[in-house]
Amino acid sequence: MQKLADIDSEAAALARQQEGCARRISVLGATGSVGTSTLDLIARHGDAFEIDALTAQTNVAALAELALKHRARLAVIGSTQGYEELKARLAGSGIEAAAGPAALIEAASRPVDCVMAAIVGAAGLRPTFAAARAARRVALANKECLVSAGTVFMSAIKDAGAELLPVDSEHSAVHQSIAGTDPKFIERIVLTGSGGPFRTWSAVEMAAATPEQAARHPNFSMGRKITVDSATLMNKCLELIEAYHLFPVRADQLAVVVHPQQIVHGFVEFADGSVIAQMGTPDMRTPIASSLAWPARMAAPAARLDLVRLGSLTFEAPDERRFPALGLARRTFELGGTAGAVLNAANEVAVEAFLARQIPFPAIAALAGDALETAARQGQVREPTCLDDVIAADEEGRALARGLLRRYS
Ligand code: NAD
Ligand code: MG
Repeated sequence: MQKLADIDSEAAALARQQEGCARRISVLGATGSVGTSTLDLIARHGDAFEIDALTAQTNVAALAELALKHRARLAVIGSTQGYEELKARLAGSGIEAAAGPAALIEAASRPVDCVMAAIVGAAGLRPTFAAARAARRVALANKECLVSAGTVFMSAIKDAGAELLPVDSEHSAVHQSIAGTDPKFIERIVLTGSGGPFRTWSAVEMAAATPEQAARHPNFSMGRKITVDSATLMNKCLELIEAYHLFPVRADQLAVVVHPQQIVHGFVEFADGSVIAQMGTPDMRTPIASSLAWPARMAAPAARLDLVRLGSLTFEAPDERRFPALGLARRTFELGGTAGAVLNAANEVAVEAFLARQIPFPAIAALAGDALETAARQGQVREPTCLDDVIAADEEGRALARGLLRRYS
């Protein structure tokens, strides 16, 4: 005879299936800001989720700790030097250990319900593509994948019959706001942004901004790279390109509004004059929860929104003169093809150079724009047909940007 507890757990499992909750999950970039937020959220849901693979690039100790805590089946460290230490730390646990770029791709290729793609930068391209081919659902935090490989990545998702859910808070907001509305009724999609730590700084002050000052994001604690992108507003530029690939609109239907409180994460204007927005206190666990549970919902611990206590929300137009990175989205749309890959690669090189104090803050956007124009002039922007074309453009973008570094230092 079945015990009541078994019937209960069967009922719970069935309910989960019906809710559409992804049960078995892998997290690529598990030690990062989005990765750890994802695991924190999952841990709050008892045995509703199982962790399959966790990956990280260099931090072996953090990866091993997460793998043990969440009883993962596989832990992969991208840097091969970390292998012996990872194996030693996982000894006796039954958790498989692996290392190196090929192992990262194998980890991403395991057939799970959902892969959280949270590697930072173009380094996430190959693993995220592998996930698109193998997973039922890809929860996408790695926006650089869409910026660099947009059309090719969307085709990979479509060909595999996978489901793509945005994790980026603005895109999650837009996805939730559209929720099944016929695209022909969408007039405009607006992404909001905090304006970053230099929202009120003059161009002269920004010219002397240090990496420490750029690291002070007003509302979020995030990885190093996206924090700098938020200070230049390159993050909004990348997000416009991300939105272009995710949603069924033209580039001229996309806009950015600065909203320092980051309560309204994005909104959609419809043909009947309705504007639907998604709100919440700034906490990545909310959009992560939406990406895991969609179309159902799951509990997440973000501080509850108290509009009365907040009193007012403010909005302003972004200043493209002080934040020229924003305008690079338009140029990328005009050029099309691999322009996004070149822009993203050049930005990654420029951000690293700024963090290494080789170039001043305003040089990040200038260098990225310069690399983009140089690539266009030299006929290096082409229509990509596969991931290898994108990776070739990424490498060209990096080489162009490195060649330009001295001019900006
Ligand atoms: P992070 O720097 O905190 O973490 C990055 C993760 O990727 C780490 O686990 C790291 O080990 C791994 N990684 C780094 N380099 C790698 C490489 N070469 N190969 C394989 N793995 C590598 O970054 P994050 O802030 O969590 O951001 C992750 C992604 O999510 C980025 O694309 C970012 O734009 C996007 N995103 C982040 C936030 C946020 O709040 N942090 C919000 C929206 C979108
Ligand atoms: Mg965002």
